[in-house]
Amino acid sequence: MAIRPVKRRSVSEPTLEGAGVRLRRAFGFQGTAETDPFLLLDDFRGDRPDDYAAGFPWHPHRGIETVTYVLAGTVEHKDSIGNSGTIGPGDVQWMTAGRGILHQEMPSGDASGRMYGFQLWVNLPASRKMTEPRYQGIEAADIPAVTRTDGTVVRIVCGEYDGVAGPVSGGTVDPVYLDISMPALARASVPISPGRSAFAYVFGGTGEFAGDPPCAVENRVLALFGDGDAVEATAGPDGMRFLLVSGLPLREPVAWRGPIVMNTHDELHRAYRELQEGTFLSARSPEPTP
Ligand code: MN
Repeated sequence: MAIRPVKRRSVSEPTLEGAGVRLRRAFGFQGTAETDPFLLLDDFRGDRPDDYAAGFPWHPHRGIETVTYVLAGTVEHKDSIGNSGTIGPGDVQWMTAGRGILHQEMPSGDASGRMYGFQLWVNLPASRKMTEPRYQGIEAADIPAVTRTDGTVVRIVCGEYDGVAGPVSGGTVDPVYLDISMPALARASVPISPGRSAFAYVFGGTGEFAGDPPCAVENRVLALFGDGDAVEATAGPDGMRFLLVSGLPLREPVAWRGPIVMNTHDELHRAYRELQEGTFLSARSPEPTP
């Protein structure tokens, strides 16, 4: 079995988003080849309401899926197709923007002011960019977890681990989204089929990912894996917790501006023109070529 080495290690960077939310961006807006089909990962863990209370007021999306995973606090959401609700601790919202959605996402802290969560953007293939918008809201209790003999707990948000399938149906890029909590000094090997893009984002404790040389990781470290059959993680003395995400690369052209990601500049231009003209939400299939 070939261990997937870490081909790039980086630390998430302070970024200002939405109406002035201070978050950390693990990747995004710097080219997509290395993470394809994933476009962006934001870490919006914050302990001070001033850092996140401004939230993400009404904004559009097209051509992508956004995956919001909340660990503490809540995110209130509301959208143009009539959905509204609260994403609470341990819950996931998998939103397929498809041909277009307008929504707002407003975080609030828990009793101690904590708002912890992540948002991942998953690209849609050209054939599905203009698909019907769709929400999948999954509550914490419906996300299965597998506990290994060494005490490692794997929560399966999407895809499959050890024969247990997560609640989200993934679609074309076949995403696997795991939240892995390892006790002190535990060692876990997680299979990830060759050819898939894969990354880990550490958000608790320390540890290392195997390779030659091994890669030491800690809170806020993003590890992008090279190809192979499995990722091997060893937790440090305080244990380690990380997201482990993989998917099939699309290898399609990317035209990206803000919250809209298409394949061509013409499609991007069309989306922004529709936003200006107020026809964004009624848009259907691509215009016929004259
Ligand atoms: Mn959004």
